Amino acid sequence: MSVNPFIQAQKQFDWVANQLNLDKELRKSLRYPQNFIQFTIRIRGDKGGIKSFPAFRSQYNNALGPYKGGIRFHPDETADTVRALSAWMTWKCALTGLPLGGGKGGVICNPKELSENELKKISQAYAKKLAKDLGPWKDIPAPDVYTNSQTMAWMLEAYEKKTKQSAPGAFTGKPVELGGHEGRTEATGLGVVITTREAMKHLKINPKKATAIIQGFGNVGKYAAKHFEKLGVKIIGYSDSSGAIFNSRGIKYEDALKYKNEHTTLKDFPNAKALTNNQLLEQKCDILVPAALENVITKSNAHNIQAKIIAEGANGPTTVQADDILYKDSVFIIPDFLCNAGGVVGSYFEWAQNNSGEHWTLKKYNDQLDEVLTNAFHTVLDTFETEHKINMRQAAYMVAVKKVADAMKLRGRV
Ligand code: NAD
Repeated sequence: MSVNPFIQAQKQFDWVANQLNLDKELRKSLRYPQNFIQFTIRIRGDKGGIKSFPAFRSQYNNALGPYKGGIRFHPDETADTVRALSAWMTWKCALTGLPLGGGKGGVICNPKELSENELKKISQAYAKKLAKDLGPWKDIPAPDVYTNSQTMAWMLEAYEKKTKQSAPGAFTGKPVELGGHEGRTEATGLGVVITTREAMKHLKINPKKATAIIQGFGNVGKYAAKHFEKLGVKIIGYSDSSGAIFNSRGIKYEDALKYKNEHTTLKDFPNAKALTNNQLLEQKCDILVPAALENVITKSNAHNIQAKIIAEGANGPTTVQADDILYKDSVFIIPDFLCNAGGVVGSYFEWAQNNSGEHWTLKKYNDQLDEVLTNAFHTVLDTFETEHKINMRQAAYMVAVKKVADAMKLRGRV
């Protein structure tokens, strides 16, 4: 039976609470969402008749600032996945030092079976129903699995209509025309490279002599590859859902991108060896970037990983057992909620600009991203080096939970 993600999130929290010696009342408050909203969306389908969809919003914690987190449209969504993801958002925002709390939303639906018109109605109904609970200073949703900038545009319009005000800062990940930012598309991939650059400095690896392998060639993997090349790192392997390609002499990002755009797959890419996705993970390289799925590095392949650094672009690519093995094998892991935090940091920039009526240049956006993530990386590294026998993921949890716990105490909530 698969593990309930919320129970897993609570177990992680319990470990940190013990490390930090948090008192009983504080633990109780931080183990559950502050507020969990559940309702049913009803829309008239294109072919007549009513269609209904269970919907959720979990407002986990707002001690550091308004709740922040995406909305997923997925047939397998559950109340507990939303709760768990809202806890992880809380720690992620705290870790990167953002003045934001954590939240998450979801609608149980299958976007592949719905028309654009039906998706629009679902998005509008979601924002309308939650209008009094959302807002730039309350709770700020963003796109997530199977939602995008168009979803945010529909939600923004419904929210503003209902609340009778203009409030672009109520949603992030909007189209650029509606207050979104050009930098957002590449922010997560760029963030993977910024945090890995700092890890290379720490491990004294010269980027110009380093090699990288990237699993997944979507939003995160693609832009990580682009920015690794700018640093001088040679990419020797890529993969997508069709399989993997490998060449120890290097495969240029532009060539892989052009091929993928023309063929919609990396399969049969010329001048490269075809490998399975699992074989790719076990090739010798300096940096391994899992940027596709969860649980791809497990106790069965962890011993075979030859990379010096694992930069977790994806959420949850490494299992707990694999973490232990890799720690003993001295593989340096940049944990997901630090490594892929570029997206939420970019969302924060969008929100801040919307609230002040500014629009930053791309250079300013990327420079600020660099500063925020570099600081976050070194805060975690300091804890990793000071504490004994903990890995980078545990160090990151300690930094994040401590920030939220301190804010709770300062507010006198416990
Ligand atoms: P995406 O859908 O754009 O790309 C996913 C890629 O993975 C595709 O190239 C797909 O072909 C590939 N893939 C699917 N199955 C695979 C397999 N078995 N082996 C190898 N590759 C496979 O998704 P994305 O936005 O790039 O997200 C990737 C991961 O990063 C997810 O875990 C996501 O939660 C996480 N993430 C994304 C963002 C973001 O801003 N996009 C932010 C934080 C975390």
